[in-house]
Amino acid sequence: MVKILNRGLLALLLAAVGFAAVPSAVFADHAWGNYHWARTSNTFTLNLGDNVSGAWDLILSTTSSDWSKSNVLVTKIVAGGTTGRRCRATAGRVEVCNASYGNNGWLGVASIWASGSHITQATVKLNDTYFNTATYNTLAWRNLVMCQEVGHTFGLDHQDENFSNANLGTCMDYTNDPSTNQHPDSHDYQQLVSIYGHNDSTTTVSQTVQSAPGKGRMPPAMANLEIAGPGQWGKLIHSSHGGWKETYELDFGGGHKIITHVLWATDEEDDADRGHEHR
Ligand SMILES: [Zn+2]
Ligand SMILES: [Zn+2]
Repeated sequence: MVKILNRGLLALLLAAVGFAAVPSAVFADHAWGNYHWARTSNTFTLNLGDNVSGAWDLILSTTSSDWSKSNVLVTKIVAGGTTGRRCRATAGRVEVCNASYGNNGWLGVASIWASGSHITQATVKLNDTYFNTATYNTLAWRNLVMCQEVGHTFGLDHQDENFSNANLGTCMDYTNDPSTNQHPDSHDYQQLVSIYGHNDSTTTVSQTVQSAPGKGRMPPAMANLEIAGPGQWGKLIHSSHGGWKETYELDFGGGHKIITHVLWATDEEDDADRGHEHR
């Protein structure tokens, strides 16, 4: 993994060899595999379906305008295609949802549906069971988790996964104190440029539900799967820091996968439960 201190070097390397020739190992810096939305040009518009309730509306609009500062993508909030509780995916866009999903240990979950390296649809779920508690019912926690989970749906990974070190100043950094980690930083925007520095010959992004172009490429069971909980996340493929960061993969064969990224609550009360369920 490329460390923070090497970022200057990485930028030089990227500039020197050109984006198309960059090996996937470099993308592993803070990209999520090399998953990305297929599109034929930049800047592209990615719709965020609004299935969130009033308490999240301001947060969603902050996240949308934060990420739209990117040079390669613009996010647009559109009417949701599902309900907060079901959070069924819609081809060609991200559905953003909230509900009290239960005392299951997780604050937020981002899932991407991928065919090969191309993301075809994605969902973000924010767990009000925790956001309705005094610990997490703050603007800072809501901003961090919304910003991070939506960031994952672009193909971004974390910059840092240690909860206890100094904040990096990005929502893609794990922390116990979200105060200065509520928004993306310049490195996130650079990483988006490196992920989206090439054009594809097809597109998986859609502005309308009817024309959703990625849908026909997915096995129907995958396209229509509603992910209700951990039982449907699939196989644990990555775990770090004692299980705080976990990535799951559900493989439908032929390069078709659903990948789910989980942000666990740091609340100590939940520690025992979480350990019992997931380790
Ligand atoms: Zn591509
Ligand atoms: Zn995350």
